[in-house]
Amino acid sequence: MTKYQHIFFDLDNTLWDFDKSSILAFDKIYEIFNLINYGIPNAKDFHKTYFDHNNRLWEQYRQGKIDKEFLKTERFRLPLNDYGIVNEKLAIDLGESYTDLAARLVALVPNTMETLTYLKEKNYKIHLITNGFLEVQSIKMKASGLDMMIDYSFVSEVVGFKKPDHRIFHHAINEVGGSIENSVMIGDDLSVDIIPAKEIGMTHIYFNRKKISHNEKLDYEIYDLIEICDII
Ligand SMILES: [Mg+2]
Repeated sequence: MTKYQHIFFDLDNTLWDFDKSSILAFDKIYEIFNLINYGIPNAKDFHKTYFDHNNRLWEQYRQGKIDKEFLKTERFRLPLNDYGIVNEKLAIDLGESYTDLAARLVALVPNTMETLTYLKEKNYKIHLITNGFLEVQSIKMKASGLDMMIDYSFVSEVVGFKKPDHRIFHHAINEVGGSIENSVMIGDDLSVDIIPAKEIGMTHIYFNRKKISHNEKLDYEIYDLIEICDII
């Protein structure tokens, strides 16, 4: 029998195809809010403008510099400003609609269900450690059926610590009754998911879907989720 019992996954861009659902949601909000009438050429262009602002704001959120309500609206207020649109109500409405839509438009990373089914059959406990918002992550899990596969979910907003803070990893392992030795961390973000797991001595699998080059010495690195079945 394998020494592992608890498999911890990151959610966004590990199991949930965040980028894909984001693009789908932008197509929708572009249509719903008639953004063409505001001079925004198309949904793709708007998404591109939004993308950098969103990444920068998420980094500030991770560092605790801004809260989620501010993030939700600001990530639309700033790209709207880039098009010369100053409209507070539109920014708020887009923020609300987008958050809701992006979670409902199901977009799982390829081989998610196949891999989780394999792990379930092998009697591993499957858990999530995610930095997202509780309401949003819950909708994603229900809409996609992931909730049926997951034993415990640890959402940073509830736990009180965000990855890469070691405390969220220790908290999750304790809560499921596991140990560092019998736990594995799997995620797509080297600095947020993988380095902290390595630092606390947890076995880690870096899901490097975009094949980003790096110099980190890691336990395992995969390019497709299904490769997990060959490791554990
Ligand atoms: Mg991720």
